Amino acid sequence: MPASPTIHRTVDDLRAAVSAWRREGLRVGMVPTMGALHSGHMELVRAARERADRIIVTIFVNPTQFAPTEDFGAYPRTEASDVAKLAELGVEAVFAPNANEMYPAGYATTVSLAGPAIGLETDFRPHFFSGVATVVSKLLIAGFPDVAMFGEKDYQQLMVVRQMVRDLRLPTEIIGLPTIREADGLALSSRNAYLSPEERQTATTISRAMRQAAELVRAGGSVEAALAEGRAALTEAGFRVDYLVLRNAETLAELANPAIEPRRMLAAAWLGKTRLIDNIAV
Ligand code: AMP
Repeated sequence: MPASPTIHRTVDDLRAAVSAWRREGLRVGMVPTMGALHSGHMELVRAARERADRIIVTIFVNPTQFAPTEDFGAYPRTEASDVAKLAELGVEAVFAPNANEMYPAGYATTVSLAGPAIGLETDFRPHFFSGVATVVSKLLIAGFPDVAMFGEKDYQQLMVVRQMVRDLRLPTEIIGLPTIREADGLALSSRNAYLSPEERQTATTISRAMRQAAELVRAGGSVEAALAEGRAALTEAGFRVDYLVLRNAETLAELANPAIEPRRMLAAAWLGKTRLIDNIAV
């Protein structure tokens, strides 16, 4: 039986553990999550293991990145099984604070953003990235890891975190890792648990529509026509599309010259009460 990770509930506790590791000259890696861990998260942990001697996985369903109308209450919370999975991978520490530890009564400090945080998700979830950036900065400051792992599944989030770490001069290297998918193409997500069996079948349309649109673009077709076709395929399958766009992969700005810029296709769409996001390189 692998040893269970130590569970830290307070920033002071986590700092004490990290300080002890630092005195031993060990490298520290962090994997921030909201729990309900799946194979995508596990890949981030494995990648952290290649780059660090000690791993902290954070599990915190961050209230400030949910609007009052969103699924904060319904979001799956499965700490015991999460910790068991992390024990299998030999993770040394779990940081699982309560909301009051991260946001003490009367807190008045948040991170505000521009650049890659403008548009896309922000057009539909204006509160979202400020919540993410605030909590990620607090987690990075709590543990000061040498390296932290994020998934490309949340591509705009990865860009926002990179920009923030650069701007705040945080001493952590940010690593982005490819999206882990089911065999039928659906990107793994804790929110996939919300899908009915029928919706789960339909959900494959999102990656298929993006791959087809990407093929049309790669073949030199009109970007707008390819995206329109992709949106139509999603609508026909029963999705309500928030966006399906092609952007500059580094800045997320609109493409001025699609033929020569690095390109990323990004999508967000609702299937019933579940909002799915995905993205691919083009
Ligand atoms: P979450 O718990 O959903 O907030 O995600 C925690 C981290 O895991 C984020 O960096 C996500 O981008 C990453 N992640 C979530 N799903 C996947 C996936 N299917 N493949 C790779 N990384 C993922």
